[in-house]
Amino acid sequence: MSDDCLFCKIVAGEIPSKKVYEDDFCLAFDDIEPEAPVHTLIVPKQHFNDLQDNVPAEVLGRLLATVPEVAKLKGVYESGYRCVINIGPDSAQTVQHLHVHILGGVRMGRFTFEGSARQA
Ligand code: 5GP
Ligand code: ZN
Repeated sequence: MSDDCLFCKIVAGEIPSKKVYEDDFCLAFDDIEPEAPVHTLIVPKQHFNDLQDNVPAEVLGRLLATVPEVAKLKGVYESGYRCVINIGPDSAQTVQHLHVHILGGVRMGRFTFEGSARQA
């Protein structure tokens, strides 16, 4: 638990969330500002700043294994969905607690960098 981390507070139940799934390792809850009809976040219960924060393989495995389970619960397992893990400033990561976005419920286009502030 990191004291001033929003997602640690959600894991601890100090900040309410719309819970989708929970086990010993992970919590999944709906994003507060959904960018698709289905927009759910999966977080490890243990605090890691991001994917590059020496995350043990077991935690990563459990996190990714949870993705299809959450997709089933959200009704997008058959239709497909997109998983996103933002890492660092160029990705626009805003919450520094490792999380996987599950986005679905709509037929998406490919990634676009239109409107990006920084050119390659
Ligand atoms: P990031 O940009 O760091 O990859 O994603 C952080 C996500 O957390 C954003 O999609 C944002 O809408 C979501 N978020 C921020 N604050 C809250 C909150 O208090 N509750 C929930 N459920 N989601 C949040
Ligand atoms: Zn945290």
